[in-house]
Amino acid sequence: MRLRPFALLAALLLIATAVRGADGLLPVRLDGTPAQGALVRGHAPPGTLLALRGKPVRVDPDGAFVIGFGRDETGPVPLEITAPGAPPRLEALAVAKRDWVVQRIDGLPPGQVTPDAAALERIRAEQKRLDTARAGDSAEQGFRGPFAWPATGPISGVYGSQRVLNGQPRAPHVGLDIAGPEGAPVRAPAAGVVRLAEPDLFFLGGTVIVDHGHGVTTLYAHLSAVEARPGQRLGPGDALGRIGKTGRVTGAHLHFALYWQGIALDPAGLLPRPAPPGD
Ligand SMILES: [Zn+2]
Repeated sequence: MRLRPFALLAALLLIATAVRGADGLLPVRLDGTPAQGALVRGHAPPGTLLALRGKPVRVDPDGAFVIGFGRDETGPVPLEITAPGAPPRLEALAVAKRDWVVQRIDGLPPGQVTPDAAALERIRAEQKRLDTARAGDSAEQGFRGPFAWPATGPISGVYGSQRVLNGQPRAPHVGLDIAGPEGAPVRAPAAGVVRLAEPDLFFLGGTVIVDHGHGVTTLYAHLSAVEARPGQRLGPGDALGRIGKTGRVTGAHLHFALYWQGIALDPAGLLPRPAPPGD
């Protein structure tokens, strides 16, 4: 994560102070820095109720929880904390800003990638199923991690990059691209339950979505083979498919994405550094 020193310092100061209670104790502990694209796990006293941006956050009986901040989140983000027997208290979380890579590609034939009406209908239907698979908020425990790399290979695309085609801004890239060889195994980075397993979506090709609990899901796209089925329980390291070039791609790679309550986050922030060497 590339943070400017000032932003990092401000974020660290915030963690030390923002969730401090009036009695000087820290009722809620965050195990990371609220930053654009960050998934942040934390602990609250058992029985605490939490809401981020007014939306309830699942808190386990032992107080474990997780929250996330989108690519364009500017903050401050309101976190409502209701400890047992205490009135609700509203805390404002500052969100550290990040810089995004801009990739400009000019001279493309206009209309080269404009889907026709039939394709648009298919894309909309698939989008609904993807949204549903990412919308869950289950009691699964995989969110606690640790998360491992799902595949090995050179990083060919990072989270948050902005593509500008013929001067037209396109949706930012919200995943991590790992350019492993076609056919190489893709493994669950943490425990979870498969919520979607599709052999051929329009943009994403062979796709699997895994639910790690508390609104945390991971997505694997462009798979040459899908080796998981909906409802299947995966342990860390279990194979779920193989790297491929299905869907709209120019070469074989794994598109690996992370979501919290449907918000796309940066999976790189969860993974051990450095990346394992590719084959
Ligand atoms: Zn990608």
